[in-house]
Amino acid sequence: MAAAPVFRFAPSPNGPLHLGHARSALLNHDMARAMGGRFRLRIEDVDGTRARAEHVASILADLDWLGLAYERPVRRQSEHSADYRAQLDRLQAMGLVYPSFLSRTAIKAAVDRLEAASGQPWPRDPDGAPVYPGTERDLAPTVATTRIAAGEPFSLRLDMVEALKRVGPLTWTEYPDGFAAPPKTIAADPAAWGDVILAGKFTPASYHLAVVTDDAIEGVTHVVRGHDLYPATSVHRLLQTVLDLPEPVYHHHSLILDTDGRKLSKSRGSRALRALADDGLTPDDVRRLAGLGGS
Ligand code: GLU
Repeated sequence: MAAAPVFRFAPSPNGPLHLGHARSALLNHDMARAMGGRFRLRIEDVDGTRARAEHVASILADLDWLGLAYERPVRRQSEHSADYRAQLDRLQAMGLVYPSFLSRTAIKAAVDRLEAASGQPWPRDPDGAPVYPGTERDLAPTVATTRIAAGEPFSLRLDMVEALKRVGPLTWTEYPDGFAAPPKTIAADPAAWGDVILAGKFTPASYHLAVVTDDAIEGVTHVVRGHDLYPATSVHRLLQTVLDLPEPVYHHHSLILDTDGRKLSKSRGSRALRALADDGLTPDDVRRLAGLGGS
């Protein structure tokens, strides 16, 4: 008999959960239940500069309130730096990693200059940020080592061109309408992201490196998350392939939009689940608001 499917809800504790998170959590939970699968919770606090303990506590309280039982222990990224280091070491041994010292502002300035010189727009990544121009790819290792030793902030980047040479055409399996309906094969386009960041001076792993490492370690077979992460799947498939990690299948669910049609986000004042509960809404009300039927 095939092993039970493994689902996970993987919030970043950078703020309280809102309705969009509730949709992800409820879908993961319900789909796991419908398929006789397992439902895990992962706290994505790898970025210690943004994660906060009080948000972890409120996430756990909100999931309890929603009545979503997850398996224990809960994996917390901040406790697993060694796992990310191990994957980074493997990428480094393949010659696919290099240090970069340009800040985001400096990258923007460099790209402005390139655009002014060429009269052409510089490519943007799927998140709309200018693609890193690769200027430090050939920095002499001794120079980089000296700058790191001197305490300069740095990021470790993936050499996208070299990584792509190691793989054939990449695809992923997307179930647009849930796992009961037929899947589609999606062509991945990791090159659109350029030389993505894998780790930083203060972060043991970027989102991309952490998520593929964790999904593999936790045996995740079914990734259910918001459509905002659909383009990131291209990078995940590249890293999974280069690192020889198992390939999950994906369902990217539609996002809940504000009444003005924009993605929900805390900065736009969207209501935290806690505030909805304080207003007297029940978990079933939240299910309905999140676009799922009542339980
Ligand atoms: N931690 C990510 C977020 O809160 C989700 C990661 C994922 O599901 O792959 O947006």
